[in-house]
Amino acid sequence: MQNINKEEFKKSIEDYTKVLFRKSVSEASKQQLFQAVSYSVKDLIIDQWMATHREYEDKDVKTVYYLSMEFLMGRALGNNIINMKANNIIKEALDELGIDLNVIEDQEPDPALGNGGLGRLAACFLDSLSTLGYPAYGCGIRYKYGMFEQKIENGFQVEVPDNWLKDGNPFEMKRSDYAVEVKFGGYVRITKDNNGREKFVQENYQSVLAVPYDLPIVGYGNNVVNTLRIWDAEAIDNFNLDSFDKGDYQKAVEQQNLARTICEVLYPNDNHYAGKELRLKQQYFFVSASIQRAVIKYMEKHEDIHNIHEKVCFQLNDTHPTVTVAEFMRILMDDYDLSWDEAWSITTKTCAYTNHTIMSEALEKWPLELFSRLLPRIYQIVEEINRRFIIEIQAKYPNDYKKIEKMAIVYDGQVKMAHLAIVASFSVNGVARLHTEILKNQQLKEFYQMMPEKFNSKTNGITQRRFLLHGNPLLADWVTTKIGDDWITNLQHISELKVYADDLRCQKEFMQIKYQNKVRLAAYIKEHNGIEVDPRSIFDIQVKRLHEYKRQLLNILHVMHLYNQLKKNPEMEFYPRTFIFGAKASAGYRRAKAIIKLINSVGDVVNNDKSIQNKLKVVFIENYRVSNAEMIFAAADVSEQISTASKEASGTGNMKFMLNGALTLGTMDGANVEIVEEVGEENAFIFGLTSDEVIKYEQEGGYNPKDIYNIDQDIRTVITQLVNGYYSPENPELFREIYNSLLDSNGGERADQYFILKDFRSYEAAQKRVEEAYKDQARWAKSAILNVASSGKFTSDRTIEEYAKEIWHLDKVKVELE
Ligand SMILES: *Cc1c(COP(=O)(O)O)cnc(C)c1O
Repeated sequence: MQNINKEEFKKSIEDYTKVLFRKSVSEASKQQLFQAVSYSVKDLIIDQWMATHREYEDKDVKTVYYLSMEFLMGRALGNNIINMKANNIIKEALDELGIDLNVIEDQEPDPALGNGGLGRLAACFLDSLSTLGYPAYGCGIRYKYGMFEQKIENGFQVEVPDNWLKDGNPFEMKRSDYAVEVKFGGYVRITKDNNGREKFVQENYQSVLAVPYDLPIVGYGNNVVNTLRIWDAEAIDNFNLDSFDKGDYQKAVEQQNLARTICEVLYPNDNHYAGKELRLKQQYFFVSASIQRAVIKYMEKHEDIHNIHEKVCFQLNDTHPTVTVAEFMRILMDDYDLSWDEAWSITTKTCAYTNHTIMSEALEKWPLELFSRLLPRIYQIVEEINRRFIIEIQAKYPNDYKKIEKMAIVYDGQVKMAHLAIVASFSVNGVARLHTEILKNQQLKEFYQMMPEKFNSKTNGITQRRFLLHGNPLLADWVTTKIGDDWITNLQHISELKVYADDLRCQKEFMQIKYQNKVRLAAYIKEHNGIEVDPRSIFDIQVKRLHEYKRQLLNILHVMHLYNQLKKNPEMEFYPRTFIFGAKASAGYRRAKAIIKLINSVGDVVNNDKSIQNKLKVVFIENYRVSNAEMIFAAADVSEQISTASKEASGTGNMKFMLNGALTLGTMDGANVEIVEEVGEENAFIFGLTSDEVIKYEQEGGYNPKDIYNIDQDIRTVITQLVNGYYSPENPELFREIYNSLLDSNGGERADQYFILKDFRSYEAAQKRVEEAYKDQARWAKSAILNVASSGKFTSDRTIEEYAKEIWHLDKVKVELE
């Protein structure tokens, strides 16, 4: 560790406010102070960053390139300070300057270059890679507008552009010297070289200049700093007169427009494929730039490209970066003159693919016409990969055309990206045990039968540095007083807390900390929603992207049911409960947006009904994102993980709640299965159909929700309230579509396709068990402590160790400062 000199650090802040803003510390605004503090912290990081890369060069290490369209990083300043182990000294320095570190941290916009779980996973992985000392680059896109900011107006979601770069980003570093050209469109001319070999030349293309910006990823207390490299697009030539002379005015303008649009905005779809041409451009743009750079870097140290797979691995985070396969083949063959077989052998030892979902609407399938027009050379290579693969299928399964239909990369006029990724990768992994089993036995059965050796499972994880140490300092300190601070880099050791679970004093301490965190969240809710919530009530929280399969609708229908009961019988036994939601819906996802409106409408009625004596509150937290997530997890009693079984590949929110001592109320889906396995079913509330049952119903064409609707009067009452104006007197038709989706099939869509009515009573019963359990505070505290103590498996450090040992084969480095 490097020593930080407090006086020098204070001087640095003073210098930066002067140089950047011509102000003294006392004159500078909070935002300006944030900038000055961040630049001062970056200065501390820079020596470690350089030392890390010197070490990588000296040892000629193998490096993983984690290719991802999304990195949902959250704020950098607080995290960097914590990972530098500089929290105390910097707090002191700021105190002495009259600055509150928390206030300064709050000035930083959340870099929201991701939608949800997939992007946050990439961010947790980078934190773990650095902390464990593994050489890595994150490769992505520097979207000018990240995930939109969500405003709630009159109960409706309104999307506001997130101009996160408007004040600059103090931690980034533009690397103009590493810029590369990326080509789109045109056609491929085939010529012969001197040896009579075919050469492929892309002509009449448009191109942009890809310019990387590097962000430091600081490991925890180990001097290792890896790099997140995000690419921006610039116009190749600033309108040179040459083009005018040649009459290329049109093309020059088009290229400028292309450069302007490519990195403009993140598509706000989570688990959904939209098939937009610009999205494919974004994919090829960042992939081509990243792979070109990785090859250039390798060739700076090596004579020959044939062994590049010994030093480089490309991990594909979902199918979004799958053009990697063909781009790497193109570079090896067209730029380095390798034969097809040589290039294929190298590519298939370098690429590895992570599958994130079984939802069919998320599968990327590009129309041939679009794909071949945009990427003519890449398309040729994909066609050839497909041709050779079909021959393999036929050799293994003669005359079995079903196999070709199921596995071909090019079929029905589409390029199937998952198939390309599987065929070209040496590793295909699911993200939780159950998810991997469903892939092997259902979705990807044919591939699994043909190439079982590729398939493996890597259960997701989260970083305890951000989601406990930074997000919940009270609990973090408590854990450290009990068992020492080893958990920060060895979460397995948090199991040592188990001996305190039965200790009455420890239970009281734990509940007191939870209470303080609930007070903190209640203050946030009061400030942002104007709603008073009682921190002594049960905080029952569902925060995640809004998606029908995640079943926020099941949750709010149950709240409506509880309210009906309370209205009927105000004196009934009822432990006060605060239901808290947070969720962004994709801007074009109408039904998801209607569910947000429903939650807010129910909240308006329930929260203002004096007759129920504040026993029930419903809060929708606006603009759910990493920075408020950290505070929300810390304050949770109940973690709602209620997806339709088989649909949630893993989930990671479930792990963050567990780490913060919330009890899971959930289905046997994704990583919930493994969470319950670790903590014991008696310390969670499990309900609902199993994934086998769901899959069976689906194969039979669904079930009939009307059978439930007809028989169950309470459910019928709730459903009817969707369309009789009970919650939307101004427009009784507002929730008609939700109502219809529950009762009627529609085109290819089954009635209640997510089994909400089917699971309703089972969910209600589980909620009753929650209430009973919470009344016994000692018992609850014990369960909560056991959840914290059993969360060791779910650190992303464990996940990354598995990837590094079983897929990437990386060696750890040690970095000493001179
Ligand atoms: C962890 C996280 C997610 C993923 O939550 P799930 O419950 O696993 O869907 C989404 N968004 C943010 C901001 C997160 O921190």
